[in-house]
Amino acid sequence: KYAIGIDIGGTKTAIGIIDSDGKVCAKTSLLTDLTVDPHVMVSRIADAAKQLLAEQSLNEAQIEGIGVGAPGPLNTKSGHIVKPPNMPAWHGFPLIESLKRHFVLPIAFENDATAAALAEKWQGAARDADHFIFITISTGIGAGIFSHGKLITGSTGNAGDVGHLVIDPSAGDCVCGQQGCWEFVASGTAIARQASRLLGRDVSSKEAFDLAQEGHPGMKTLIDQVFRYIGIGCVTLINTFDPEKVVIGGGVSQVGKPLFSSVQDYVSRCALNPSGQSTPIVPAALSQDAGLIGAAALIHMKY
Ligand code: ADP
Ligand code: ZN
Repeated sequence: KYAIGIDIGGTKTAIGIIDSDGKVCAKTSLLTDLTVDPHVMVSRIADAAKQLLAEQSLNEAQIEGIGVGAPGPLNTKSGHIVKPPNMPAWHGFPLIESLKRHFVLPIAFENDATAAALAEKWQGAARDADHFIFITISTGIGAGIFSHGKLITGSTGNAGDVGHLVIDPSAGDCVCGQQGCWEFVASGTAIARQASRLLGRDVSSKEAFDLAQEGHPGMKTLIDQVFRYIGIGCVTLINTFDPEKVVIGGGVSQVGKPLFSSVQDYVSRCALNPSGQSTPIVPAALSQDAGLIGAAALIHMKY
């Protein structure tokens, strides 16, 4: 049995055919062209998917459905993209209605972090967990929450938008209108912004981590602060949901051990209850194709 997975991002859109064992049988990717009408972009996505089917000698009758992951805010009930900040041309776009002009297949639709959490449950680091939180620390911060063996999607698919948990109100203005949100202080974007201010030149988040590792004193202080902020968010989520584990993915998680040991240490000191203090903080297992596998999981998995 096969599903089509579509992972729409602000820069690129990945499209794949994924079987019920989670194997990516075929995939392709398109630039998400934000200058054309989104209906045109959807036509290109549909054409690419149909071409993949043809290449695999599959027809639509052999496909169980199409899973779609996209950035929030969105509305999975109505099938609209609502207002992802870096996709202004897509605000209010009826994505699912547009896709249905090209396919008669069932379509499942969730935000990208929610889909990635399901992928970690299906094929990744959370296979053994009925209660876990998946956090992605990348350009922004998002999460997917899995509880009692089920995804928590909320009423419109926007549950888990933890990037706007307030972590340090004194830190400055977030785009959302609040101050000191988690992604304003601890995302890859936030790390690069603070590191660039510190050195008076453009510094990427990777370079910031490298400098801290080499012992640059100012950068070490900054990165320790970032790790603390990541720990604070994790403790809040652990105290709220009592998960068996926390899985962290996204570009920033590639820093690896320093991040995970620092966050684990913060959690062991600051989570409220003893079981919370020992919550394992583990790296995501899927990095490549995580979005595609998550999108297909929306079809292949019960959630
Ligand atoms: P996206 O946000 O498009 O999903 P990523 O998950 O790759 O993309 O996250 C991009 C962010 O992660 C950028 O801010 C980038 O600087 C940061 N990043 C990527 N790789 C690393 C790395 N090895 N170390 C530290 N930061 C990284
Ligand atoms: Zn915010």
